[in-house]
Amino acid sequence: MSEPIPCKSTIEPLSSYFNLRTKVDVLRLDLVHPVVSGNKWFKLKKYIEEAKRGQKKLVTFGGAFSNHLLATAAAAQKEGLQSVGIVRGEEPAILSHTLLRARSFGMELQFVSREAYRQLHYPENLPAILPGDSLVIPEGGYGYPGAKGAEAILAENETGVYTHILCAVGTGTTLAGMICSAREGQQLIGIPVLKNAFSLREEINELLPTEKKNAFALIQDYHFGGYAKKTEALLSFMNDLYSRSGIPTDFVYTGKAFFAAMDLVRNGYFSEEDKLLVVHTGGLQGNDSLKKGTLIFD
Ligand SMILES: *Cc1c(COP(=O)(O)O)cnc(C)c1O
Repeated sequence: MSEPIPCKSTIEPLSSYFNLRTKVDVLRLDLVHPVVSGNKWFKLKKYIEEAKRGQKKLVTFGGAFSNHLLATAAAAQKEGLQSVGIVRGEEPAILSHTLLRARSFGMELQFVSREAYRQLHYPENLPAILPGDSLVIPEGGYGYPGAKGAEAILAENETGVYTHILCAVGTGTTLAGMICSAREGQQLIGIPVLKNAFSLREEINELLPTEKKNAFALIQDYHFGGYAKKTEALLSFMNDLYSRSGIPTDFVYTGKAFFAAMDLVRNGYFSEEDKLLVVHTGGLQGNDSLKKGTLIFD
C-alpha cells in the first residue's frame, strides 16, 4: 500500500442535485483511503499510536463481513504492526471477500465458535487466547481511544457553519467523537443501522463527558430490517444518488444514512435556514457481497 493515510477529506454540495430547500453538504471521508475507509482510520489512530509505542500486535474482533477487521488489517500493515483478527463463527470452506483481503494484508485469522466469541466480551477471558504482547481493540473500535480519534473528523474541514451533522451508527464510537468536538449548539444525529438498538444511547453516553451526555439524536427508523439487511427501495435510492451526484454509498451503512438524510429533509425535520452536513463514513467494500450489476457503480 503506497497511499498515504490519511488524505484530507473534502466537503461537497448535495442539495442542488436533489433540488432541496435545506442546504445539504457531504463530508467525504470515503476519499481518505480506499481500504481503511473513512471513519475507521480515525477510530484506529489512537490504538495504533499506543501499539507502536509498545511494539504490540493489534488484536481485534469481527464477523466475516466486518469493515473494522479489514481496516485494522490494512492499517496494521501500513504502520508495520502485526495483526490478529478473531472471527466470529467456525472457519467456512470459502472465506468471504473481506476475510481474504484482511489475510492478504497479513492479518492472522483465528476462528472461534459463536458461543466462544460471546464469552470474549468479558476481558478476563481474553488472556488465555492472546499473546502477551497484544493491544486489544474492542469490536468495532468501540471505546475511549476510538472516540478520541474520531474527534479529529470535524476538525479537518470548515464544519462550524453547519447546524446539524448526521452519520450512520454501528457502535456509535464515531458519533461520540463528533459530539465531543462539535461546536456549541450544533446538533448531532445518528442513524443506527441495527434493528432494536436499545442499548446504543447508553453505550454512546458511556464515551461522553457529563455535559455532553444525551446531547444527540438517534433516529431508529432507517435500519431497513437490520444490520446488512436491504430493500429494493434502498438499492434504487443508492443508484439514484450516484447517478445524480457521483457519490457512491454502501448498503450496510452510508446508503441508509443518506436515505435518512433525504427523507428527513423532505419531511420537514429541518428548517430552510438549517445547514446539514452528512458524514460519508466510507465502507464501500461492504457492497462486494452484492450480486454484480445490482449497483450502477462498483
Ligand atoms: C464501521 C462503520 C460505521 C459505524 O461506525 P461506528 O463508530 O461503529 O458507529 C459507519 N459507517 C461505515 C461506512 C462503517 O464502516
